[in-house]
Amino acid sequence: MYAARRWSVRHARGLRSVYQTLARLAPWLAPLVRLLGRAGAEAVARPVERAIKGFLFDCRMCGECVLSGTGMACPMNCAKQMRNGPCGGVRADGGCEVDPQVRCVWLEAMDGAKRIGLSVKEGGALLRPLDHAREGRSSWVPVILSEPPRAEPPRGGAPITHEPGPLERACQSGRFVVTVELAPPDSADPAGFLARADHFENLVDAINLTDGAGGNCHMSSVAASAILAANGHTPIYQVVCRDRNRIAIQGDILGAAALGVRNILCLTGDDVSQGDQPQAKPVFDLDATTLLGIARGMRDAGTFASGRRLEHAPDFFLGATVNPFVPPHAGRIANLENKVAAGARFIQTQFCFDVGRMEAFMRAVRERGLHRRCTILAGVGTLGNAKALQRMAEKVPGVHVPRELLERIGRAADPRAESKRAAIGIIRALSQIEGVGGFHFMGHRNESTLAEIIVESGLRRCGRAPAAATGG
Ligand code: SF4
Repeated sequence: MYAARRWSVRHARGLRSVYQTLARLAPWLAPLVRLLGRAGAEAVARPVERAIKGFLFDCRMCGECVLSGTGMACPMNCAKQMRNGPCGGVRADGGCEVDPQVRCVWLEAMDGAKRIGLSVKEGGALLRPLDHAREGRSSWVPVILSEPPRAEPPRGGAPITHEPGPLERACQSGRFVVTVELAPPDSADPAGFLARADHFENLVDAINLTDGAGGNCHMSSVAASAILAANGHTPIYQVVCRDRNRIAIQGDILGAAALGVRNILCLTGDDVSQGDQPQAKPVFDLDATTLLGIARGMRDAGTFASGRRLEHAPDFFLGATVNPFVPPHAGRIANLENKVAAGARFIQTQFCFDVGRMEAFMRAVRERGLHRRCTILAGVGTLGNAKALQRMAEKVPGVHVPRELLERIGRAADPRAESKRAAIGIIRALSQIEGVGGFHFMGHRNESTLAEIIVESGLRRCGRAPAAATGG
């Protein structure tokens, strides 16, 4: 099947022409479809469509075909069901995060789009969440009947008056914003977790709470965010689409807002195969971009995704991630643009160990004016030694570590100190790039070193007066 898929992408131009010709003939078939009735037409078209598209595209019969916008590469073949561009876990050689033997569907899509003559942006159009009720149905019958695309749900709610919170104000301030990632605990007692958060008091603008990072189970990020908010910190609640469907996620983010959490980072999430419970069932009902659109709709239109009205809309400040360091490099800008269009106003990048790549990415960001529409926080961090860094480079999909950096830390007499020096050097270099709006620190259970780097790099001084507003 994979070989057939690759063949289809190689012949995307011809296949799309065939599709367009058939689409032009479609109105001639409409009387026949009407004669058969909807059910009869479905009964005839479905097996034919399944056989032809199954053979050519490995079609999963999602019922809402987007092939002509994705270079004739079916996005439903993505293990995470990404319909709005690639995830950040693509491997350096273009391999899929989940199945490294298979090339990322979105790399295929971009190749196909180029062959057809579409721009990368056109090849990565913004799509709404999939209507699972249409699964198994024919996509041809609605085309033959010239049915309009699915309508947007009614948006009848009362929008809120938006008041910027501490993180949003920091993003608007023009100074470098600093955020840090904290893993929620494996404990029902939050005391140790709060002690870890206290490392960053007065050093950061907000603290990210990871949501089952790497597919591993920890305290829920919504609970951890609420605990931090109640203790005077400014949390960023990370929400991944791997573990919950749209009903559960909307309930969770509304609950988070009720508990004083307003900053939400929307992610698709690492696959379960990367974690400690690979037997778990991945959900991926939404992707990061469609989740952003839903959260924005809850805030701005005061409705759930269904259009049902909220009694009191949440006041979210929305963010997303981008990974400039892995393929498809050109597609990453389209991906960022989609996320900004969907409502993201702060963006956190994957670990930046390669300033040159970040520079190239930011050049493209500035060309499209995206740095004026969102605050881009470069991901930085440190690891204790060359072995840990090497392991990360090899095992963590989506992380790119240049060989020179690995060698430099490997040669050092004190790898920990060298690693810290390297992180500070990267921060100073990134500070010079126009459009970088701040830094997002990452490093599993490495709080004290990260706090030292924040101070030693000059981003913040110890003992700074606490921010006036806390929580949320
Ligand atoms: S987008 Fe949907 S209908 Fe089109 S080929 Fe893929 S699974 Fe089939």
